[in-house]
Amino acid sequence: MNSVIDFNALISDRARAVDTSGIRRVFELGAKLKNPINLSIGQPDFAVPDEIKQATIRAIEDNRNGYTLTQGVSELLHAISQHLADDVGWRVPSDDLGAIVTSGTSGALWLAFMAVLNQGDECIIADPYFVLYPALGQVTGAAMVICDTYPDFRLTAERVEPLITRRTKMLLVNSPSNPSGVVLSASELRDLVDLCERRGILMISDEIYDEFTYADARENGKCPSPARMTDQILLVRGFGKTYGCTGWRMGYVAGPKSIVQQMQKLQQYTYVCAPSMAQVGLAAAFDVDMSSHVAAYQRKRDMVLDAFRGVAAVEHPGGAFYAFVEVPKRLGLTASAFVEKAIGQSVLIIPGKVFSQRDTHFRLSYAVSDNTLKAGLEILRDLMN
Ligand code: PMP
Repeated sequence: MNSVIDFNALISDRARAVDTSGIRRVFELGAKLKNPINLSIGQPDFAVPDEIKQATIRAIEDNRNGYTLTQGVSELLHAISQHLADDVGWRVPSDDLGAIVTSGTSGALWLAFMAVLNQGDECIIADPYFVLYPALGQVTGAAMVICDTYPDFRLTAERVEPLITRRTKMLLVNSPSNPSGVVLSASELRDLVDLCERRGILMISDEIYDEFTYADARENGKCPSPARMTDQILLVRGFGKTYGCTGWRMGYVAGPKSIVQQMQKLQQYTYVCAPSMAQVGLAAAFDVDMSSHVAAYQRKRDMVLDAFRGVAAVEHPGGAFYAFVEVPKRLGLTASAFVEKAIGQSVLIIPGKVFSQRDTHFRLSYAVSDNTLKAGLEILRDLMN
């Protein structure tokens, strides 16, 4: 049907500003493949633990299907409070600190940006970055200031400080990182916390991969977190990756009450609440032991490092389930050109320019079976030789 109205002319500048073409190109190329070796997926390959599934099914059967309080159901808020006390030593809620359950960590990030940033305010992010981050700025009108962290992908205070201006309001930290898997040390985080406090900048710590931190990057058995140094930050964590339930859209944010309350108000008029049955079903999630999955991913991480040793540079991924691999310079190819070649051999990976202003690396997800990973690594190595 011919449309009478020119709908394209109605699209906002804000929507137009968001560019998803890089990722779309990979998906389009991938869709043409019959049996792709898919190393492009940003989610775990294990099933949701049975006790969490059962608790969620029970929640539906118990008619926990209506709106919840905007901030979340009391049993999950209680569990989060307990977990934060045990893990980072925060007392939430208190006079100064609040927490709300959000629709994924994405929900928490959007609410934080809407609550804090005005048009033209600046937020510093590392390059390479998670794909959502630039869009947060494009939609809210905030300027995303890019901190180049090549070649080691470490967001350090030294690299951040020269980028601070009068308009800087926020520093968004993501460790373990998507796409590089790099985990910042407690000492690096301490310097960033000090810098933010000195300059009156809000740090948001996106710790969605905190559970996927491997032995060599853990400190005192845990993923280093700025939340153990201060409670003057916004701490964003999720359930989707940790428990394999990305589609349930579950995360949470904790931090200064004055900000969290504004986020809660905005949640009331946007997401309303996180999915009710998932909130109830995840209330006991912190007691579920996921360590065997983490150990399996550490082993797969080592398979990736072994495969590229002497062939391509890979900065050591201490966590998440990604490696950000440099396309060997001797090939004379952009990462995008290399990725097209890989896809031609049925291996799906994502070119670095989707996560970066550079086009020199590709992201590989090793959250797949050993056989799939082995087959994919072999083809990638062959393409490099
Ligand atoms: N932050 C990072 C660094 C991520 O990699 C992702 C998911 N890929 C998200 C946030 C969003 O996660 P969620 O599904 O919980 O919204």
